[in-house]
Amino acid sequence: MVYNCPKCGGELGLDGKCSPCAWKPSPLPLLGDIVAYPVGPWSAWQSKVIAVGELVLAVGTEPIQYSHIGILSRWTEGRADYEAQFPRVREFAIPPARPFDIFQLPGLTAGQRSTILAYCRSHLGEWYNLIGVLTAGLIMPRNQAFCSEFAGQAYAAAGLLIPFEHERALFPDAVADWPKAQKIFSSNGGK
Ligand SMILES: [Zn+2]
Repeated sequence: MVYNCPKCGGELGLDGKCSPCAWKPSPLPLLGDIVAYPVGPWSAWQSKVIAVGELVLAVGTEPIQYSHIGILSRWTEGRADYEAQFPRVREFAIPPARPFDIFQLPGLTAGQRSTILAYCRSHLGEWYNLIGVLTAGLIMPRNQAFCSEFAGQAYAAAGLLIPFEHERALFPDAVADWPKAQKIFSSNGGK
């Protein structure tokens, strides 16, 4: 799978712009944006467990069900994000075959973006909250986060609270439903 231009169907470059027709995402993705991954056969098993939890707990109103969340750390010259992914928090390259959408908060300041990214960098190597995933948020160890919690904590560090749709934990679909955040890019052109 390649990333296709929603206008002409041409292949998007690594910077997300289309060379045949000059289409580009507007606004452009910026570091610190939220990367949301739809659940699918490609998802890690922990993400599939989260997806089942979202269905059981009725979290999420978006037509697309997201089961994994990251924070964009690189957009040009390859794409990467910070993710709490089993077993630890790391910076991951976004594989070209993996569908993802980018959500951006309008008005986020450069200072808030650097705070979000600094939070992610300072928590690299911390354990993934597997217990929280397996207990649907019933048991939440301190200093451990799963993907969407980690993203929520990074935004909270910048003073931005993403509302929980379920009292115990912040699920990926709740991040995608955050009314303040706008979907600005879809790796499949929004299809
Ligand atoms: Zn195009």
